Amino acid sequence: MSQQSQHILTAVAWPYANGPRHIGHVSGFGVPSDVFSRYQRMAGNKVLMVSGTDEHGTPIQVQADKEGLGVREVADRYNRVIAEDLTALGLSYDLFTRTTTENHYAVAQEIFKGLHANGYIFPKTTMGAISPSTGRTLPDRYIEGTCPICSYDGARGDQCDNCGNQLDPIELVNPVSRINGETPVFVETEHFMLDLPAFAEVLGTWLQSKQGEWRPNVLKFSLNLLGDLHPRAITRDLDWGVPIPLEGWSDQANKRLYVWFDAVIGYLSASIEWARRSGDPDAWRQWWQNPEARGYYFMGKDNIVFHSEIWPALLLGYNGQGARGGTAGPLGALNLPSEVVSSEFLTMEGRKFSSSRQVVIYVRDFLERYDADALRYYIAVAGPENQDTDFTWSEFLNRNNGELVAAWGNLVNRSISMAAKNFGAVPEAGELTDADRALLARSRAAFAPVGAELNRSRFKNAVTEAFDVVRDANRYLAEQEPWKIKDDPERVKSILHVALQVVDDAKTLLTPFLPNSSNKIHAMLGGTGLWSGMPELQEVEEGGRSYPVITGSYEGGARWESTPIRPGTPLAPPTPLFRKLDPKIVDEELARLGE
Ligand SMILES: [Zn+2]
Repeated sequence: MSQQSQHILTAVAWPYANGPRHIGHVSGFGVPSDVFSRYQRMAGNKVLMVSGTDEHGTPIQVQADKEGLGVREVADRYNRVIAEDLTALGLSYDLFTRTTTENHYAVAQEIFKGLHANGYIFPKTTMGAISPSTGRTLPDRYIEGTCPICSYDGARGDQCDNCGNQLDPIELVNPVSRINGETPVFVETEHFMLDLPAFAEVLGTWLQSKQGEWRPNVLKFSLNLLGDLHPRAITRDLDWGVPIPLEGWSDQANKRLYVWFDAVIGYLSASIEWARRSGDPDAWRQWWQNPEARGYYFMGKDNIVFHSEIWPALLLGYNGQGARGGTAGPLGALNLPSEVVSSEFLTMEGRKFSSSRQVVIYVRDFLERYDADALRYYIAVAGPENQDTDFTWSEFLNRNNGELVAAWGNLVNRSISMAAKNFGAVPEAGELTDADRALLARSRAAFAPVGAELNRSRFKNAVTEAFDVVRDANRYLAEQEPWKIKDDPERVKSILHVALQVVDDAKTLLTPFLPNSSNKIHAMLGGTGLWSGMPELQEVEEGGRSYPVITGSYEGGARWESTPIRPGTPLAPPTPLFRKLDPKIVDEELARLGE
């Protein structure tokens, strides 16, 4: 690679720990961010990929109430489930942590204090709910009523689950306490607001500089938001979250930082935690303060506002770069996102995913029945990259059987088994024909365009172009028919040499998408050592709690280039790479979907 090695932060949206995640979630933030990170590592860049479970806020409390458990127990349970599932999917996080760590509390509070010191946070008296019978504060989640926006009658005091809008309890029509059904009384309560209008100008300049770089839908959406920026509450009447780090506030059990405020800071706190665990506590600065570093944020489209507007505003405020000026806090000035990569939504057989209506397939259940690479491939080639997209079991079956098994698996299998059977090793090529040279040149030439698509997060184009190499190689074998040549072993050697070289190239091109099968092909072709590293769970402890983090060593041998295969390398008969699925799985899976 002629290009110099860059520091690349892959900041992946934080899954919310109130339940297991389904394939719609991982198609939005999970697989795309991993494909991107694996490619960047192969291209020689220094990647830091971080995320974790988002564990504060009302929905976890609601889930805890439902299960009759404490909030920590619920957070612990789903943190573990989610970490296990993302590991099984092969997502190569350098650190996947959680928002309930001491480190995260400290970093979230530090950002709050920096914003406060620079004048971008101000207190405001609003109306909060109390229970008239007890006189105590009623946290938002205990108030229910009709949504003023969509008229849904089960909206909560902080959010409407039907239309997704954030609410204030006082906005609800006919609010009632979920504890005893009484009508709450609203009294004055104080909260902190983020002065978003103070960032309108600098955000506008910054967003305009991203023209032609970001996906157009993300940029257009973000620019539209600019015209309507209002101060936004960053604290809440809530007893589960990060305490407010100011005198007179920190000891109030019912005042906490708003969950979205602490969650976006997770990208930074996880980077700082990763550095501490790596033994070099300042290492995170290379990704956050080096002006050459680039930060890519991956999420579903419902989260764009937090990454293109609010998180940049928090960073600008901490740096002292908004309309009120100021100076950077003790951490130093921090880099803004380079790119916000948002996916659209995945639906399931024409319907919205819904856990309550059983229109869902959880990652764990999927991976119990099918291979991780099969799901990764589907998401890359047919996922919701540019538009809302429907997952159907028949398309999953067809792509698995037609593309992975029949096209790619079969190419690998025929080439290696013929060479193993006839020669026991990678054969030497004799004189090459025009067709041989054309195919070799064609697969070598695929690295630049496929790499360019991956670098721009155009995963569908990238995997399609990589698969074109597979199709051309199959066509070449069909035309050359080495199995029919009986009297010219030298020609057979040349054909199989060419085929194996192209298999090796395609293995490399497909590694970001299909790391498990590429690792197998690497071994089949006599490769030694690790090719593309896989994540692992590591049990860590804090405050008497033991929990898993995802980490891994991704310093494998995979490089984004064509590497000549070595004649004479012993070959064993290959084992199948992918499982062919029985068409009856479509009906079985559809029967599992509820109404
Ligand atoms: Zn609503």
